[in-house]
Amino acid sequence: MVTERADGPRESRDNEKVGMHDFRDDGPYLGWLDDHPDGYVVNTTRPPAIGNVMLHRATCHHVRRAPHPDSSFTREKAKYASTDRGELERWARHTVGGPPQPCGICKP
Ligand SMILES: [Zn+2]
Repeated sequence: MVTERADGPRESRDNEKVGMHDFRDDGPYLGWLDDHPDGYVVNTTRPPAIGNVMLHRATCHHVRRAPHPDSSFTREKAKYASTDRGELERWARHTVGGPPQPCGICKP
């Protein structure tokens, strides 16, 4: 006999912990955006450099549309995503020595 667990909130799963993701492939990146519409994305150069660290909402078209039809989201630019905006800001301060620049379009 199979014991079924009641459907609990999905957020309680261990693998759904809040954490920053460094995306190297477009597929998982775009999937994360769809799963976390309330999340935040830092778009930056590889390696990250002060003045090139932009904070966006996951719903911003700047981080959902490739600059060129045949280009990759994640190859030319680094994408760091988290549901915790503070975590991305701490990361930017630690990595490039300053806060990320908020996007003027999505105003995160
Ligand atoms: Zn934006």
